[in-house]
Formats: sequence, structure tokens, C-alpha cells
Amino acid sequence: MPSPSLLQEVVADAAPLLGGGKVADYIPELAKVPSQKLGIAVCTARDGVIGAGDYQEPFSIQSISKVFALVQTMGLYEERELWQRVGKEPSGNPFNSLVQLEFEKGVPRNPFINAGALVITDMLQTRLSAPRQRMLEMVRNLSGNEHIISDRTVAMSEYQHSARNAAIAYLMKSFGNFDNEVEQVLHTYFSHCAIRMSCADLARAFFFLCNKGASLDHRNVLSEKQNRQVNALLATSGLYDGSGEFAYRVGMPGKSGVGGGIIAVIPGEMSVCVWSPELDSSGNSLAGIAMLEQVSKRLGRSIF
Ligand code: GLN
Repeated sequence: MPSPSLLQEVVADAAPLLGGGKVADYIPELAKVPSQKLGIAVCTARDGVIGAGDYQEPFSIQSISKVFALVQTMGLYEERELWQRVGKEPSGNPFNSLVQLEFEKGVPRNPFINAGALVITDMLQTRLSAPRQRMLEMVRNLSGNEHIISDRTVAMSEYQHSARNAAIAYLMKSFGNFDNEVEQVLHTYFSHCAIRMSCADLARAFFFLCNKGASLDHRNVLSEKQNRQVNALLATSGLYDGSGEFAYRVGMPGKSGVGGGIIAVIPGEMSVCVWSPELDSSGNSLAGIAMLEQVSKRLGRSIF
């Protein structure tokens, strides 16, 4: 069980790394976020959330939303239907890569790269009448924070620079693996990515991942089996082409976003969220990974 002072030490240890990475600038609005931020929050059944640094400050969750989207899809589709449209393998390529799609007939490697999340969002668009609203309801319920919003300016900024995501979606459509209008699905996907949450919100919201699928307020978000499956995919693909390095250094299922957030879990014990906007070459938070590495080292934890 980490103490508030341990978390403060973890933040202090990561401070020298500030300046060593690069804030995402391919979404112009994200480039405006101050880079000198460090936050960490941990959630346990006994103590709820504790945190250090900038852990109460909301940031753009970006690809962390891909986990919420996958969880929603698992509740709406049969297992077989879902996994015939998206794979379960690590991609070994950057998060926004197109290359494998051509060879693999429009079926993305996993749900956590952009191609996979776009297929998942397409599936949500088919089954939900108001997918953006449903996503907000989900994150508000899970985090217990009614004030969470999706930032329209960030979503619009990304839409104006969406050539690559649109290309990915159209390529999948050409293979018959995309049912709805590409533009409509892109709007939903960017709205999910533009949700603003703090480390505290995210640690609370993802508590179910360390608790056999049950949320802090004892609702079944996933079955125990589905929860294991999601954690397995996070451990193998949650940090894109940095997933192997992350497993080696940190040893927790995790998911990053280009806003600089990373969520991770120690199954049976706690959920963790770190935030620092400067990214490494794989698009993962540089200081964020270092903070998680410190947590696993100081607590002596790894799923391996
Ligand atoms: N919205 C971002 C994109 O589609 C999400 C990528 C990420 O966080 N890795 O490019």
C-alpha cells in the first residue's frame, strides 16, 4: 500500500526528466498544454484515492479512452463478433500506423492502436444512438465526477488534422471492416479522445481493472473473465511499440495516451494513474513511465 509520502518521493524523483521529451503537437491544441506537469494518483479499496503533484488537474485522456470504448463494446457484442473485426496481437508499430492493415485485410492488430479503436468506435456507432453521451455517462459514473466533459476545442483541432486517421478508416472500409460513415465515426472517436479527466478521476474509474471487473461502488463493469482478457491485452499492447519495454520496466497492464496520461493496475491491489505531457519516441509519457517504474520498484510489484 503506497503512502502519500511515497507518492511525493516518486514525483520528486521524476522531476529531473522534465525537458527530456516532447509534448504531442500533431494536435495543435495539445501543444498548448504546459509541459512541466507531474501527477500521480493511486486507488485502493481501503483508502480510495491518494495522490501527489498535479494529480487533481484534468488533462486530455486521448488513447486512454480506447479502454473505455473496448469495455463498452464487450458489453454490446458477442465475444466472437468482436474479435473477428479486431485482433489481439501487439503491433510493434507506431500507434497511428497503416502498414499492417494492407497485408492483414483491414483487420487491425489490436483495439489499442488507432486502427483498432476506430473499428471499435464504428461498432459502438452501430449499436448506440448517442455514443458520445454514453461515453460521458460511463466515465462520470465510474469516477464519481459529474463535471467531466469532452473538450470541443481539442476534438475540433484533431478533426482538422485527421488525414491519417481518416486514411486508416477508409482503408478498413475498402476491406469491408467499417460499417458507418467515416466522418461520423471520426467525430465520435475524437470526442472520446478529448475527454478531460485528472489522475484522481482515472485511478478511480479504472479501479475495476484491479478488482476482477467490479467498480469501487461494487457494480460489475466486466465479468471476471473479461477483466482478465482486457488486462492481458493491456499488458501486451497498451503502450503500442513501447509495450515490451513497459512490461520489462514496470510489469503492470497499462494504457497510455498522447495527452501524457498512463493508467496501470496491480491486479488485486490498486489502480494507478500518472500524468506528465512530454512524450518519448513511441508517444508514451516519459516521466509517467519513470513514475510507474518507481512505484513497482518501491512496492516490489510486477505481474511477472
Ligand atoms: N487522438 C489521438 C489520435 O488519434 C490518440 C492517439 C494516442 O493517444 N496515442 O491520434
